[in-house]
Amino acid sequence: MIRLHVESPLRAGVRVEPTSDQARYLTGVMRQKLGDSVLLFNGRDGEWRASLVEIGKRGCVLTAEVQTRAQTSVPDLELVAALVKRGPLETIVEKAVELGCARVRLITTRRTNADHVRLERLRAIMVEAAEQTGRLDVPEIIAPEKLERLLDGWDASRRLMFCDEGEGFDALQDGASAPASAPVLPALDALRDAPRGPWAVLIGPEGGFDPSERERLRGLAFCTPVSLGPRILRADTAAISALTLWQAALGDWRA
Ligand code: SAH
Repeated sequence: MIRLHVESPLRAGVRVEPTSDQARYLTGVMRQKLGDSVLLFNGRDGEWRASLVEIGKRGCVLTAEVQTRAQTSVPDLELVAALVKRGPLETIVEKAVELGCARVRLITTRRTNADHVRLERLRAIMVEAAEQTGRLDVPEIIAPEKLERLLDGWDASRRLMFCDEGEGFDALQDGASAPASAPVLPALDALRDAPRGPWAVLIGPEGGFDPSERERLRGLAFCTPVSLGPRILRADTAAISALTLWQAALGDWRA
């Protein structure tokens, strides 16, 4: 059945007017007729079966009938992702929704190249991903902020899983034999005995974090540096891998 995210409150008998895009999708693309049922959610009132009661030129109207699922929530996991090129960034936010993030924060870092971001477009991608994946909420997306400022205001009760590729490519290219800083633990080892509760996953830009950023991060009491293996991953792959490992170790992929 088609699932739509709506803003309006949901309870028995309430009339809901989907956006014009949703109406076009319902009656145009999916050819829904009067009396057909769809599922609605708004992030607060659970999931409701609704039926199509009016179809007009400029939109349509649904009436919520019965609640099909009570509201659920995801673990308190944030993704903190540096801005990257548009394609990978769109992948990152879509996968963050599928992988059960509660919130996505965008950041700029010293090596961030991308400078503008279409938040509305990212938000639309997240709504679609939530509709498709069966979630009953759409994670919040927070406009880019400087990494430094984010860390200045960080709530220390939230742990930060810092995905640190180490010396990375630079070291490989220089032919350096020993890394300049201590190796980081593989993610699963680092998370094995880690506390549950609120967490965030931090992923850097294409160029990685610069040495001063890495040094600051490694010195923070709430920060757990982790490695995602011996290969350098692109930011989108790194985000997907890190969120997967966190969900498996501490999140709702556990029994
Ligand atoms: N600076 C790197 C590329 C950065 S990859 C280079 O040498 O070219 C983008 C981001 O993905 C990194 O900042 C890091 O957060 C994450 N990442 C990629 N591979 C990783 C790995 N093997 N372990 C941990 N994090 C990784």
